This record gives sequence, structure tokens and C-alpha cells, in this order.
Amino acid sequence: MTRLVTRQTYPSWPARLDGPEARGTWTGDRLTESLRDGRCVWHAGAQVEVTEHPNFRGPLNYLAGLQDRQHTAPMRDEVTETSNGRTTSLSYALPTDRDALELKAAASHAWMDATHGLMPRLPDFMSNVMVGLWDFRGELARVDTRFAENVEGYYEYCRDNDIVLTHAIGDPQMDRSSTVQENPDMALRVVERSSDGIVVRGAKQLATLAPYCHDVLVYLSPTYARRELPQHVCWFSVPMNAPGLSVLSRASMAGRRTGTTDLADRYDEQDAMVFFDDVFIPFERVFLLDDAATAVAGFWHLNKWSLHVGQIRFHHRLRFTLAVARMAARAIGVDGFREIKSDLGELAQYVELSRMALTSMLAEAAPTKYGLWAPASTLAMDTFAAQISGRLNEILTKISGSGAVMQAAEEDFTPPELAPLVRRYMSGCGVDADEKATVFNLVRNLICTDFGARQHIYELWNRGDPVRNRMTLADAPVGLDELEADILSDFRFGGGARA
Ligand SMILES: Cc1cc2nc3c(=O)[nH]c(=O)nc-3n(C[C@H](O)[C@H](O)[C@H](O)COP(=O)(O)OP(=O)(O)OC[C@H]3O[C@@H](n4cnc5c(N)ncnc54)[C@H](O)[C@@H]3O)c2cc1C
Repeated sequence: MTRLVTRQTYPSWPARLDGPEARGTWTGDRLTESLRDGRCVWHAGAQVEVTEHPNFRGPLNYLAGLQDRQHTAPMRDEVTETSNGRTTSLSYALPTDRDALELKAAASHAWMDATHGLMPRLPDFMSNVMVGLWDFRGELARVDTRFAENVEGYYEYCRDNDIVLTHAIGDPQMDRSSTVQENPDMALRVVERSSDGIVVRGAKQLATLAPYCHDVLVYLSPTYARRELPQHVCWFSVPMNAPGLSVLSRASMAGRRTGTTDLADRYDEQDAMVFFDDVFIPFERVFLLDDAATAVAGFWHLNKWSLHVGQIRFHHRLRFTLAVARMAARAIGVDGFREIKSDLGELAQYVELSRMALTSMLAEAAPTKYGLWAPASTLAMDTFAAQISGRLNEILTKISGSGAVMQAAEEDFTPPELAPLVRRYMSGCGVDADEKATVFNLVRNLICTDFGARQHIYELWNRGDPVRNRMTLADAPVGLDELEADILSDFRFGGGARA
């Protein structure tokens, strides 16, 4: 059967560059409006309009509110810059020296502080992947000079229009023990090529924030880039409303509106499968084809800045966890007990280690071989974050005892017959019942809900397989060969060199 592939005219980015349409950073209303673009999003068995569905409304409103905040001080001065009359996001800024890199890091702190590190894939994350793609364009030019030109054009389009991106770098989790030779559906592939573009078929996972994004950027994790079949190696970007592209949004954690402390209703950023049912990608949006070696080399380079953003985010999540744990311990008068204090100390230790690591990532920042300034490697902290994430929940569980479960809800403070009982018998140590219930409902959200569990799962997997990352670290230590030789010569049986 011959398939009909629609060659869509996408929002023509070259025309929008420097044009009046490129309006820089979003306001909340404009962002919301921009998502009403005919995209195909499936959710709970039905095709939905993201801007109207109750399960998406809370997080979208929150995201929109954040966009508005960046237009007034102090956030405006922290996260945006203005030149030639257009205000753009510092997330997209290209750091050409240390000061510029520090400015970008400060902007990421502002975003992550505003969300307490609980909305990991704020647009800041992927805008920083675009910084990496821009810096890597010289290597892409070695494969085809047009790829580098495409990256430059697309980067400018994204920066000037503040495009919100998701990325999908993994293959569907069908059968990890099989190969694409056995079943080509296991990985996205190019099925048609012409001078004006390519057609791709297959699926990608797992695109966080996808329902709220304008474009999906597809590239490959090293495991998937090492394909023997070149048609499976492709980097490109495509608008979420492209013909043939559909999104399956996972079960929602938002929409239940259990009160002000309902973290999911603010921060559930969603995760999605992206299906490409013969989607046409115009050539100006193709960044790499066929070359697995370049795809493998590019992966870590693209992610250098975004992984740093991820560590900034983790730092704010740690601080939030520690603050909530301290308030919970104080609220029931256990904060001075020996074991509890030690647990709080352990959380404080993680906060401090993360703060020092962030400081040293910037102190050891250096120019890349392509010209931009990049923070030092995050890899050790990436594996550390995956390692300790479960411990955060364990400590919160231990400190709060039954308090994580047995609390009054926000509406229990309203009925005149019930409220006095709640206020009298559910108050805490030096805090009234409202404050205690607020704190413990936050604890409950963090450790008893699907939202809390997903935070942990995200920490474990979002930077790729932690086992593989640890294996990479095992091969990484600098100067160890020399030290090992030194140790042997110092201590070898028979006296050693210094005997
Ligand atoms: C909440 C969340 C958000 C995410 N957001 C994004 C996103 O926005 N964009 C994106 O592209 N990705 C995203 N990811 C995907 C993430 O990068 C992957 O989850 C991660 O790389 C692990 O891959 P996987 O989930 O397919 O697990 P699998 O690869 O299927 O692994 C399952 C298990 O099998 C083991 N295993 C697999 N293969 C081997 C092997 N060859 N040898 C030995 N053991 C093996 C693994 O160690 C693991 O224990 C997200 C993941 C999560 C959980």
C-alpha cells in the first residue's frame, strides 16, 4: 500500500528570524494560546485539547504563571536579557566566557528555586540542550555542512521565539534483548529521503513535558546511536502538530485538586510516548543522518549544559526536602531526638555536598574545543543523585511516622462542627493545626503519592541508566594509572623502591 505523506509547511522559521513575529519570551496567555495548534495528544483513551482538559490545566496554568513572572523584576533581571528590542531567555544564551556561564547558572537557579526543583523539565533544561547542539555544529559540518547551517538557523529560531522543547532520545521499551535487525519497529528510522527532507517512522520515548511543548528534538543516547543500520541514526526536530505525529500522554497525577499542597496539580509535567506515523521532516530541521560515531560523540556534548541545569534542579529539590523534613520534625517535637537529628544532618550533608559540587562545576568550567564555556562534568553527581534519591523518601518516612498519612485535609478546617476538634487535637508542637497539616500534607505528597514516586523514578533514570553511568565513571579517573604504578613500586614485595 502506498502511504500518503503530507509535506507540511511548518511555521517558516527563516522568515520569522528577526521578523516581527519573533516575540521573544512568552507571556502565560501567549504560551497557552500557542499550544492550541491542532496537535494530536492522546490521554486516557481519548484525544484531548491540552489547554482545556482538567488533568493538564493545573500544571499548564502554573507554567503560564511562571512565564508571566519573567516579565517583572526580580525574575526578569535573573532569567532574561534584552538586545535589539527583543527580550530572550538566558536559557538560550551562548556562554562565551565564564561570566556569561555564571549568569546562565544564576538564571537556572531562579527557575529551579521558583519550582523547588519539583518540575525538572522546565523549558530551561531543553533550551540548554540547544546550546550544546549549537556548540557541536562544527562536528556536524564534517558530516555535511548543511547540518551545521540547519542547527544555526534552528537555534536562532528557538531563541528568538522562545520555543519550548522536549526531547526523545530513547527507543520504545519493547525487547531490550533484541535488535533492530530482528524488528525494525524497535527504533525510529528514516524510510524515505529526498532533497527537501526525510520521512521517519517509529516511536520514541520518553518525552517529558511533551504536551506543553512546541517541538520535539530527537537525537540518540549512545546505546541507541551504535546502530549497525544507518537509517536508525537521525537527529532532527519537528513541531508537535506535524501531520502523522501523535503523543500518548501517561496517566495523569494532576487534576485531583486535593488542596494548596497538591504538588502534582502544579508540577506534574507529564511524560509521553511520541509516535511518528511517517512524519515528513523538512531538510532544514535535520541535524544529522547515518553517522553513528558523530551521534555517540555528540550525545555528551549536547547535554553538558542541561546536565548542569539538572544538578541545579536537584540542589533545590534537596533544599526543599530538608526544609520540609525540619518543619515536620519540629511540628511533632522530635527534632531534638538523637536519631532524627542525625537523619536531618544526613539531608543537610546532601544539600552541602550538592552546593559544593555546583560551586566546583563552575570553578572548573572551561572553554570547549568549539568555543563556548561549559561547566565541568556532572557525571559523579549524576550517579550520586540517583543513588541517594530513595534515601530522601526513607528519611521523610522515618521522621514523620504516621503523620504522613493521618492529617486533616484543607477542607476539614471549614465545617464548624469539625474544625474546633481538628484545631484542638491535631495541632503540633508550637504550631497550630493548619501549619502542621500544611507541612505533613507536603510530606504526604512527597512520599505517599504517585507524584512523589515519580520524582524518585525520575531521579533514578532521567540521566540514563545509572549503572552505565557508573561504569563510565570507573574508566574516567585521571592519573590513576600513574598512581597504581607508584603504589606497586612503593610497596612491592621485596622492599619496593623506597625501602
Ligand atoms: C520520569 C522519567 C522522565 C524521563 N524523561 C525523558 C525525556 O524527557 N527524554 C528522554 O529521551 N528520555 C527520558 N527518560 C528516559 C530515560 O533516559 C530512561 O528511562 C533511561 O535511559 C533508562 O532507559 P529505559 O527506561 O528504557 O530502561 P531499560 O533500558 O529498558 O532498562 C530496564 C532495566 O534493564 C537493565 N538493562 C537494560 N539494558 C541492559 C543491558 N544491555 N545490560 C544490562 N542491563 C540492562 C537496566 O539497567 C534497567 O535495570 C525519562 C525517564 C523517566 C523515568
